[in-house]
Amino acid sequence: MNIILLGAPGAGKGTQATKISERYGLPHISTGDIFRANIKNGTEIGKLAKSYIDAGKLVPDEVTCAIVKDRLTWDDVAKGYLLDGFPRNLFQAEELDKFAKIDAVVNINIDFALLMDRLCGRRVCKECGESYHVSTLGGKTTCERCGGELYQRKDDNPETVKSRLEVYEAQTAPLIEYYTKKGIILNFTGTEAPAEVLFAEIAKVLDEKMGL
Ligand code: AMP
Repeated sequence: MNIILLGAPGAGKGTQATKISERYGLPHISTGDIFRANIKNGTEIGKLAKSYIDAGKLVPDEVTCAIVKDRLTWDDVAKGYLLDGFPRNLFQAEELDKFAKIDAVVNINIDFALLMDRLCGRRVCKECGESYHVSTLGGKTTCERCGGELYQRKDDNPETVKSRLEVYEAQTAPLIEYYTKKGIILNFTGTEAPAEVLFAEIAKVLDEKMGL
């Protein structure tokens, strides 16, 4: 099954993606993670992406679409995949339709008021990508899951978050209508409850869809 995870920055896409990917054995393809790996490795793509990411803007469509198109040729996607952070605008969605067949779009709706604090307080594991909120860490600086070092993403600061949320509203939110019209959207509501609560709801629906 080929799934897209849709939602504003901070809605919990990354956390849900890890859980969905583990439960259904689907490779988790995050364009944000791909860009961050390229930045870390100092590649040309990384150099280009960095200025956009640091400003809270979208990396140009041609670059992003080419990365995803290539990634979807790997052997591990034969039984399906989970796209996280792509598509992010209508152009990307239309491009994706040319080289992929999407079965379901898991859309996480969330109250915008929660997002600024969630994102600015977010700490991420350098090794496994697990996210935490600084208020729950009690001063700990390592990941509970794998012991990796936690860090704050450079784009998780108030100014950049504001821009990312504006980009989401203007460019990404219209995708909800795009996929609703296609009849493949599954709507969920993100809350302050633990991530397991939302995951249980998502898994119930996806289990049914997959006949499990
Ligand atoms: P994320 O980890 O999904 O929050 O993405 C971090 C940043 O990477 C975004 O704010 C964008 O600058 C860039 N990015 C990730 N996915 C895309 C995409 N599909 N199109 C353009 N830029 C993207």
